[in-house]
Amino acid sequence: MTPLEVLGRVFGFPAFRGLQEQAVDRVMAGEDTLVLMPTGGGKSVCYQIPALCRPGMGLVVSPLIALMDDQVAALRQLGVNAAALHSELDVDEASRIRAELGAGQIDILYVSPERLLSPGTLDRLSRLAISVIAIDEAHCISAWGHEFRPEYRALESLSQHFPDVPRIALTATADPRTRDDILTALAMRHAAVLSASFHRPNLIISARPKGGETKQVADALSRHKDEACIVYCGSRIRTERLAASLRERGWPACAFHAGLSPIEKRAALLRFRSGEPIVMVATIAFGMGIDRPDVRAVIHVDMPSSPEAYYQQIGRAGRDGLPSDVLLLYGGEDMTRARYWLDQSGAPDSEKRVMRSRLEAMIALTETTSCRTRALLACFGETLHEPCGHCDNCRSPVPTFDGTRAARMLLSAIYRTGQRFGALYVIGILRGKISDAATRNGHDRLSVWGIGKDQSENFWRGVLRQLIARGALLMGNEHGGLMLNEQVARPILRGEEEVRLREDAVQAQTGNARGAQ
Ligand code: ADP
Ligand code: ZN
Repeated sequence: MTPLEVLGRVFGFPAFRGLQEQAVDRVMAGEDTLVLMPTGGGKSVCYQIPALCRPGMGLVVSPLIALMDDQVAALRQLGVNAAALHSELDVDEASRIRAELGAGQIDILYVSPERLLSPGTLDRLSRLAISVIAIDEAHCISAWGHEFRPEYRALESLSQHFPDVPRIALTATADPRTRDDILTALAMRHAAVLSASFHRPNLIISARPKGGETKQVADALSRHKDEACIVYCGSRIRTERLAASLRERGWPACAFHAGLSPIEKRAALLRFRSGEPIVMVATIAFGMGIDRPDVRAVIHVDMPSSPEAYYQQIGRAGRDGLPSDVLLLYGGEDMTRARYWLDQSGAPDSEKRVMRSRLEAMIALTETTSCRTRALLACFGETLHEPCGHCDNCRSPVPTFDGTRAARMLLSAIYRTGQRFGALYVIGILRGKISDAATRNGHDRLSVWGIGKDQSENFWRGVLRQLIARGALLMGNEHGGLMLNEQVARPILRGEEEVRLREDAVQAQTGNARGAQ
């Protein structure tokens, strides 16, 4: 059967979607491939079809047992003989799977990375014909990523154990740094990279400073009477309280968080799935496996910790393609609190730095004066050439001041110090703050030394975040070092582009936003 026939007969889909066909073609041709596609984009088909069409058994590396079991159950329902090998199998099951493996009866085998690379399994598998090796959730291989799995590192050896088997890596995390890590760590430098757009044009993004949350939420909901909405909160207690206040106001609100009993959880999910109007007030525990297509609004009353998390959560709105509202309420206190807890957390420093840079990117998103959709996509290395035209900033421009000179000062300070230092250091140079490091590096002799001393550290932080939001600055290393994004930064440095900065973002902290004009 051809891939298209398998798509129709086995999966019941009349046509490939987006990049699926290209991905399937590459793998069918025996090439290594990296597929970047948002959640819900249809990644599974990209490896399942070649697994069924090429001779041999498909091998899928997956990080989570629950994920494997779901996929196996779904495939079995379609009549595909799928199985999963992982640590939670009982002895009988494991030996049944081994027998079926030996008899060549399994079409697709899901396996955890540590299980796959254990000597026994590897021996057994290398005697079998393998059609394709899929590495699902491939971002887990990147220490830069938010879901690093050290055991994924060992997957590099797959290219030696199975030199003739095409490999396909799949992920919904598309930032350029993670992408590079995947290609390097899997020894797939020559792979075809297929990257789907992360643009969801039907999501209408806006963000507003907090001020009377319950009323703000109720106002936003009033456009969505008798529809399904999700309100994300940062803590369990806040979901309970907000759900109660919304119910008092007559909304069909329901709290959802990890502290509910299994029965309560099931009841809440059932209600949500039933199609009735509902306002689900939830923590991020509400996420996996939500496939209600007609969610008309996703509101955040607390800021998510990263653009990736934010994107994933707002992605639950408008799966049916119809216009849907996405509102983020933010406050300075949220930001300082998030920074504080990050500093206090027991995570290793390297991890903290990564989390910190993601958090700063999220903060920058809230402050951007330009198109929010564009700023969000920029976080994933995607350029939207035109402003989206429907986010809040596109619809009604925010009060700004001419920050061109301040922006140029900051960019030159980063350039002249070699594009490897973090925010604090660079701001220190601009403000002429004497430090051992500055003296040791000879940076106190640079032309940029002290040229920004009229402004406070917070002013410069505000400018910096907004430059990050514009995409003029990128995180260049895991130490939080900043580098210029040439394409965006050069016209600013050359004075070819005016930089409007958001007044409220620098004003609130300094009381004097205009000094560096
Ligand atoms: P991902 O792994 O990228 O999050 P999935 O592979 O789980 O996405 O697919 C998401 C949904 O899209 C599933 O419900 C799947 O059945 C559906 N889907 C996938 N490919 C197609 C297609 N070609 N046509 C229609 N529906 C599809
Ligand atoms: Zn816009």
